[in-house]
Amino acid sequence: MPTFEYAPAPESRAVVTIEKSYGLFVDGAFTRPKATFPTINPADESVLAEVSQAGPKDVDKAVAAARRAYEGVWGRLSGAERGKYLFRIARILQERAREFAVLETLDNGKPIKETRDVDVPTAAAHFFYHAGWADKLEYAGLTPSGAPVPRAHGVVAQVIPWNFPLLMLAWKVAPALATGNTVVLKPAETTPLTALLFAEVCQQADLPAGVVNIITGDGRTGQALVEHPDVDKIAFTGSTEVGKLIARSIAGTAKKATLELGGKAANIVFDDAPVDQAVEGIVNGIFFNQGQVCCAGSRLLVQESIHDEVVKRLKRRLGTLRVGDPMDKNSDLGAINSKAQLERITSLVEAGVAEGAERWSPECTLPGKGFWFPPTVLTGVSQTHRVATEEIFGPVLSVLTFRTPQEAVAKANNTAYGLSAGVWTEKGSRILWMADQLRAGVVWANTFNRFDPTSPFGGYKESGYGREGGRHGLDAYVTTATAPSIASGAAR
Ligand code: NAD
Repeated sequence: MPTFEYAPAPESRAVVTIEKSYGLFVDGAFTRPKATFPTINPADESVLAEVSQAGPKDVDKAVAAARRAYEGVWGRLSGAERGKYLFRIARILQERAREFAVLETLDNGKPIKETRDVDVPTAAAHFFYHAGWADKLEYAGLTPSGAPVPRAHGVVAQVIPWNFPLLMLAWKVAPALATGNTVVLKPAETTPLTALLFAEVCQQADLPAGVVNIITGDGRTGQALVEHPDVDKIAFTGSTEVGKLIARSIAGTAKKATLELGGKAANIVFDDAPVDQAVEGIVNGIFFNQGQVCCAGSRLLVQESIHDEVVKRLKRRLGTLRVGDPMDKNSDLGAINSKAQLERITSLVEAGVAEGAERWSPECTLPGKGFWFPPTVLTGVSQTHRVATEEIFGPVLSVLTFRTPQEAVAKANNTAYGLSAGVWTEKGSRILWMADQLRAGVVWANTFNRFDPTSPFGGYKESGYGREGGRHGLDAYVTTATAPSIASGAAR
């Protein structure tokens, strides 16, 4: 149990300047704000800024700017030249890291220690990593020997969610630019501010106008963008529901797509695992970013013989988590990103209790204003409960048990999703066997939620298709089809 009170340790919000209102970033410049909507701080519901709702004409202009930039400049640059821009962007992100961390925390609600130590450094790492690939694509083994060198698709439409706004932007923009594509990106409607600050970084890096365009708005803007006839490729991260809509809308067109969708990962703990280490992994797996993580370890599968011990130690550990002001450097859990998300979490947990699960949360006082949900453990969950099958996307862990490795695999794979999984055991041979059996794009062994730009990430089944990161992630952004008019050297 916590024995010390922590003194407040707030990060200063003065390090970042937030404009009253923002236009769109198209063709290298910001437009005048129009048809705006507010973006709020979910920790206290205060309005941070007004951002523009891009309509179909704005989407047209952004796609046209990206097309001009592709055909006029970017598609003709050598890989080495493109790489220089990516290195420049990466370094500016590092230099302005504190600004980005504070802005992300204000707009998203996640704790400053996560934006400072995970989101922003990993975003910069993605630009550094892909900068290194820009002039080596010919040697990346993306094509069979003798095939033409890989080249860019052209204009890429990118639509991202609110849970890792800057990091998802980096996952999308860095490989697209490294491979010679130009971009129109739409951030989520509740978290547009770091993408708009990134637009300033593009200006600061002297990126040619139109190579990156950032348009804000809700799902209607996203739909107009992905359905635009002059888009060559779509990269989408978000819900399975919207992913399916996009897949349907592009059927019969020549557009390429990668879809990174939802998940319901199993975090599997065997009786020979070091329990305290596993408990840390369980906490990191489901309470990092308030559980609003597509690959969150939201189903704990624990071997029956150690269930009571693991749950006891887990509850003790959860009693030490600090939930509160995301700008406080000591906060472990911050606010839920939106009222709608909070309602979704609340109703699913209520459904879990109604179906027979036992609900437990540590004692914690939640702030009066803003969107908050306490860390929650549901025990006595069975495989048919909604909390075991549906993505909650919140700080809620469903606990199930198993007796044999075969049963663990069967239960872990008993989901419509297939994004990630975790295995905790001392036995190396069991880790390899489990990794082979689990239908998940990423399997972590004796760790969880580790992200690295060199490692491909993506799903099976309803978690989507395509990979992001690593050499595999480049594949989605290149083609070896015969080159049209420009840029036979686009991806070199
Ligand atoms: P969402 O699908 O509602 O929204 C995602 C983005 O799509 C937003 O920018 C939104 O404006 C846009 N959008 C909405 N309707 C659209 C449409 N018809 N056409 C085009 N764009 C549209 O999802 P969300 O609630 O913002 O995010 C949470 C979901 O994202 C969760 O299910 C989570 O698992 C998933 N997610 C997946 C990954 C991954 O890498 N697999 C990463 C983060 C989040």
